[in-house]
Amino acid sequence: MRHVTNPPNPYDRYSAEYIGEPPPTKLEVFEETATKKVITKAFASDWEGGWRYTVNCYRGCVHGCTYCFARQYHEYIGYGAGTDFETKIVVKPNAPHLLREELKKTRDKMPHLDFSFATDPYLPLEAEYQLTRKCLEVCVDFQIPVAVITKSPLVTRDIDVFKRLKKISVFFSLPFLTKERSNPFEPYTPVPEARFRAMKTLSDAGIQTGIGIAPVIPGYNESDIPGLLERAKESGATRAFMSMLHIDTDSIEEFFVAKMNERLPATRVAKIMNTMKRERGGSLRHRTYRERMTGRTEQWDVTEKLFDFHARRLGFRQHEKPTEAEAPEVPTQQSLF
Ligand code: SF4
Repeated sequence: MRHVTNPPNPYDRYSAEYIGEPPPTKLEVFEETATKKVITKAFASDWEGGWRYTVNCYRGCVHGCTYCFARQYHEYIGYGAGTDFETKIVVKPNAPHLLREELKKTRDKMPHLDFSFATDPYLPLEAEYQLTRKCLEVCVDFQIPVAVITKSPLVTRDIDVFKRLKKISVFFSLPFLTKERSNPFEPYTPVPEARFRAMKTLSDAGIQTGIGIAPVIPGYNESDIPGLLERAKESGATRAFMSMLHIDTDSIEEFFVAKMNERLPATRVAKIMNTMKRERGGSLRHRTYRERMTGRTEQWDVTEKLFDFHARRLGFRQHEKPTEAEAPEVPTQQSLF
């Protein structure tokens, strides 16, 4: 049983602490009808061109990855970045309509749309609501290239829509090779094996697939990289990227460390913390946006070389990172939701 655990919300003046054991969590679904925009423009240093246009039909994510950077977005709407993020799910029922209206004005300027980055677009709720599917159908109508990032095999339901898109890549976020290694950090996601099976189903259907080895948690999953790339290759993937764990806020750091302490032996936690701190110059947090996805030690260079060597050996196409000139020091995030 999961109990309510949320770090204090920095946007609230007060926070409450439970006396005794906190209550069990319960799944709550809210329908948000006041949504005004569904396309977000966001800087992304690890992505081709440095900018992403993203669509998210939900807020919060039941997959509950402890490292998830989207946890902070739940604090913007008055919830917590801990179990609230995993159990209070906001649905945007008018997302397909809004997307159509926005694309009527922006279709000529829209280079691509990414489905992800604030939630998994294929949460179990998507089976019922079908909002991601309906938004993809809008992209078919406007012939917008699309990339999807997910951890869910539910994505295979939409093969028929993918086939009608102008351009589509489906990336599976797959940072750990086995269920046992994934569990401490991804307790409620489909197991890695299920993700590889879905990858194969899509690849066999002619859809371009890729693997995102993200996050690489220093001192924990570097050794999984060759095996993950091998399995992805066997499953038909042709594209690959990796990035280092980034912890963006105090709340996420607090939750991430607390869950590691609950689920891993103390020696393992100490190894991860020490390795991570070496990469970050003494803390778990990056100091500048440019450092967000990468480390600073020779050990991280070795990790990158390990990835590059096996990615090249297996014939993967990798993302081209933007140049220094293209990557501003401080990103301007134009609209989050
Ligand atoms: S599946 Fe993605 S969005 Fe959901 S919790 Fe995990 S990292 Fe966050």
